[in-house]
Amino acid sequence: MALPYDRQYNFSAGPGCIPVPVLEQARDEMLNHGGDGMSVMEMSHRGKAYLKIAEEAEESVRTLMGVPPEYKVLFLQGGASLQFTMLAMNFLRGKTADYVVTGSWGEKAIATAKYEGAANLLWSGKAGGYTEAPDLGGLSRTAGASYLHVTTNETIQGVDYLEDPKVSGTVICDMSSCIASRPFDVTRYEMLYAGAQKNLGPSGACLVLLHEDMLERAAEGLPPMLDYKVQVENGWMYNTPPCYSVYVIGLVCKHWTAFGGLGAVEKMNREKAKVLYDAIDGSGGFYTPHAVTKNRSLMNIPFRLPSDDLTDKFLSSAKAERMHELKGHRSVGGCRASVYNAFPLEGCHALAQFMADFAAKNG
Ligand code: PMP
Repeated sequence: MALPYDRQYNFSAGPGCIPVPVLEQARDEMLNHGGDGMSVMEMSHRGKAYLKIAEEAEESVRTLMGVPPEYKVLFLQGGASLQFTMLAMNFLRGKTADYVVTGSWGEKAIATAKYEGAANLLWSGKAGGYTEAPDLGGLSRTAGASYLHVTTNETIQGVDYLEDPKVSGTVICDMSSCIASRPFDVTRYEMLYAGAQKNLGPSGACLVLLHEDMLERAAEGLPPMLDYKVQVENGWMYNTPPCYSVYVIGLVCKHWTAFGGLGAVEKMNREKAKVLYDAIDGSGGFYTPHAVTKNRSLMNIPFRLPSDDLTDKFLSSAKAERMHELKGHRSVGGCRASVYNAFPLEGCHALAQFMADFAAKNG
């Protein structure tokens, strides 16, 4: 069955799919946003029209994610990757911090932080090929560490804690690939950040939620663009912000709030992921999953086939069926289905059916 607008099933790990009603609204507002006489892309970020859009985007993030007033909402540039540096500049300089590394992004986060201070590898899943996440409460933390850094969902390995960390002290979290995929308790984190291009909208903006008390702890004398205090004082508009990306993030958050909020989103995501994990588990070993069962991501589902030749054949046949971007990351190999919030359930059923047919023919 053809998808609306002749679209493909987009299993991309990011940038990923955006809800069709949001794209339709953005299209309808492209030439004249709400009577403002121009597209959002063309507006001055200091003008009344854009400031209203920015305020609404912040509000829609707060509403969807239940962000309390003592947290600042920032939309910064440089992606989640620049946050690896920025958070370390602000909170690690001349100090120590603990990092738990459950996959490739955590590895990058700690490697980057080391430019700024003593980033201590508290736990790593590398030796086991990054298939699981530890019980954070069971780890003995470095005395005096400025913060504990975790990556909730590792996009490449598909390893997710699936719950908020229940630990004391300051927790900073990279939530790039699972933000807004289920309810989460913002107050468990002093800071969390997420590149927009998976569950929130187009690339270009990175959402940062920062507890206001953290500002007092930030290092002094930082370059202004990399100083959270400067970004907060200037309402994340110290320079020209990623205007269009923020506008779409606002629409996406409103869309999921109207859908029923993050509880409803989680229910949908669990159903979608179950279709695919069932396809893997029910294949008699033809497909093998990457992560251990307790840490299976709802967003990124890597799996392997018996050989590279079969993987290549699988990917090209899937493409012919309009299922795109199923190639796994080169560090893990095999395939990976990313099924972010906006990815439709019927796409999971289509892939599951395809997987069963392929295994029957090639197994
Ligand atoms: N962290 C995670 C968990 C990611 O998945 C990614 C991007 N795939 C990043 C960080 C880096 O994000 P960006 O490309 O926005 O810098």
